[in-house]
Amino acid sequence: MPSQPGDGRLYIDGAFVPAASGRTGVVEEKATGRPIGSYALGSAVDIDRAVAAARAAQPGWAALSAPERAGYLRAFCGYLEAHYGELVEQSMRETGGVRAKAEDEVGTSIRQLALSAVQVGESGGDILPPYKAGKLSLSRAVPLGVLGLITPWNYPMNLAMRALAPGLAFGNTVVLKPAELTPVIGGQVLAAAADHAGLPPGVFNVVTGDGPDAGWPLARHQGLDMLDFTGSREVGLAIDRAAAGELRDIRLELGGSNAFVVLDDADIEAAANCAMIASLEFQGQTCISASRHIVQRAVADDYLDALTRRAAALAVGDPFDPGTALGPLISAAQLDRVHRAIVEPSLAMGARLVTGGTYDGLFYRPTVLADVTEAMPAFREEIFGPVIPVTVVDTEAEAVALTNGLPMLMSSVFTRDLIRGLSVAEQLRAGEVHVNDAHARHGAENQMPGFTRRQWIGLQRTPLDFPDWATAPATTATHES
Ligand code: NAD
Repeated sequence: MPSQPGDGRLYIDGAFVPAASGRTGVVEEKATGRPIGSYALGSAVDIDRAVAAARAAQPGWAALSAPERAGYLRAFCGYLEAHYGELVEQSMRETGGVRAKAEDEVGTSIRQLALSAVQVGESGGDILPPYKAGKLSLSRAVPLGVLGLITPWNYPMNLAMRALAPGLAFGNTVVLKPAELTPVIGGQVLAAAADHAGLPPGVFNVVTGDGPDAGWPLARHQGLDMLDFTGSREVGLAIDRAAAGELRDIRLELGGSNAFVVLDDADIEAAANCAMIASLEFQGQTCISASRHIVQRAVADDYLDALTRRAAALAVGDPFDPGTALGPLISAAQLDRVHRAIVEPSLAMGARLVTGGTYDGLFYRPTVLADVTEAMPAFREEIFGPVIPVTVVDTEAEAVALTNGLPMLMSSVFTRDLIRGLSVAEQLRAGEVHVNDAHARHGAENQMPGFTRRQWIGLQRTPLDFPDWATAPATTATHES
């Protein structure tokens, strides 16, 4: 029976079914708190059924020819393309992101799927250099088997798709447990698309539910060949600890405390434009958001001033209003964490509030903190909110040492001297480093899972291509103190 996304059912073995518990949760529009659907509260019984279905389906799926699998993926993609406008608005409601963020999320997901459909037939294998005369060695790509995916709420469709698309393309079957805050755009919509595309039963399964009841049984399921988890360090570490000694294949994509370094020869206005994106895009709730700004003393006052003029002028409100730069935070718990666990204790430890620090419902004003030191939560924690903490250093070497003191996914360096930028970038221990840029707007293919450690360095003479809200001169700013 076909399903309407948001109708509170799981997708297991090609059928839309209620959770074994019979329980459902409410999906809310984040900006208004309005109920916009329901999701099934799955548990271990449902996970067992989904993994068994994926296991049974996997040999048949892997045995299909590459063009056959590609055909299914193209049909899957076609459903998403046909519903693009509705999906963008669903993402805006469920995540609280503005239209540009939602378009990026849905658009990237479609491109990832389209790319995987092309790649299905391309990576059959290689002929290896002969190790001995008269010998020939071949390597071929074989599927891992059954993949378990657990995903977060911030880019729910995209973060599922980046593993789901190549996973299915290469003959694996999948059980997805999306985040409970975004179960429709992160899971039910994908189930509807897979069903519409006629994927064989069991190839793709979606079990919605919360972390402890549905996520944990999937994370610990011995019937998986690989677990791909994207989420917090806390949960990632718990999964890692529990799996110790099991020799299980686990891929963890976690958070970090990303740094934004402004050197004394930087173009300060350009750096501040970029900082609006790096720290405030999607209310700062991105795994690669810049969480710490480390600035050389010679330019610190100018930089603080440039940040404050912009941040204080940004419109916070309904994501559907085209003038809005920042929508609501995802939940009351997230707002509480940002304000009470990070901003307030940092102020109590001597940080200075330059602008922001106030909220109304889930809407948190963009906040700039000065005089932030290494000991404060605003420096140490992954903030995941619209807060820019600024720490001043004297030398470039100090900036590098401070930056490398905490784990990072991404970092940025601002300087007018590209050679200096490259030299600092090479010293930073982040998977992705940008010179005069942040959040590389790189293609979908760079987000696909790979199994080597790669450092990605983006060099730019000056930052380009920012949305109007980030670059508009902030003449109407009202400075709060
Ligand atoms: P989270 O860890 O709370 O939840 C992520 C997923 O794990 C959700 O589906 C949740 O239901 C599930 N989960 C929660 N508790 C669980 C448990 N005990 N066992 C199994 N599953 C459980 O993270 P979040 O708040 O949804 O997302 C924010 C975090 O994700 C941030 O730290 C962010 O940096 C990180 N993130 C990382 C990337 C990346 O690619 N590295 C991308 C996006 C987000």
